[in-house]
Amino acid sequence: MINIQHLHKSFGKLEVLKDVQLEILPGKVTAVLGPNGSGKTTLMKSILGMTLPDKGTIEVRGEPTRHAWNYRKHLSYVPQIAQFPSNLTVQELLQMIKEVRQEPANEGSLVDRLSLQQFLDKKLGTLSGGTRQKVNLVLALMFDAPIVLMDEPTAGLDPVALLALKRLIQDMRKAGKCILVTTHIMPLVEELADEIVFLLDGKVYFQGSLSELFSLTEKNTLEEAIAHFL
Ligand code: ADP
Repeated sequence: MINIQHLHKSFGKLEVLKDVQLEILPGKVTAVLGPNGSGKTTLMKSILGMTLPDKGTIEVRGEPTRHAWNYRKHLSYVPQIAQFPSNLTVQELLQMIKEVRQEPANEGSLVDRLSLQQFLDKKLGTLSGGTRQKVNLVLALMFDAPIVLMDEPTAGLDPVALLALKRLIQDMRKAGKCILVTTHIMPLVEELADEIVFLLDGKVYFQGSLSELFSLTEKNTLEEAIAHFL
């Protein structure tokens, strides 16, 4: 689904991604873990074509990412920081995005599942952080793309919303989607991730299943296994 070969990216003198090689498969949840500043967001933006590699290649369904507009239709993206026009209501924003995209959308079921009904008429500028994050999720997931990239989708969510998100991710996996997610919520990773990618200082230190991570590090919790690399 996504094939990354020898990816390098620097911002000025700062080398943020160093020879990253990854193969990301469909029908699986891949969790990208690593401390703040390890390059997770840059990796996602590179896959999206929002950041171009200095060296190396990224193919999404066999197409190189430089052809951003050809392959973006395959991708949904939940950005870490969503920028919303604060004077629009939630409903107006959803309507506007649907008109721009002109594609079938399932925003109704997402609004239900994330309990957003009572916020539809509220202006975006008045919403709490967690509610804004739910809107961010609806916007990204309402169109049916086979690849879903989620950058800290759990930020600000309460336990009920977290459970709703977990079920959404499970359903998307069942539907065969390729899901790439960054999060600091380790129980969610333990429950959901089929594959774990551990990034540190822009390098991939590990890619594999949770049980492979545990046997490699001889640990039996995710926190301890990760601490092994630090
Ligand atoms: P993570 O998502 O793991 O926290 P990021 O990919 O956001 O890491 O950032 C990795 C490093 O790259 C950080 O040191 C960050 O400050 C730097 N960085 C990210 N984007 C830019 C940019 N556009 N310009 C300069 N530095 C950047």
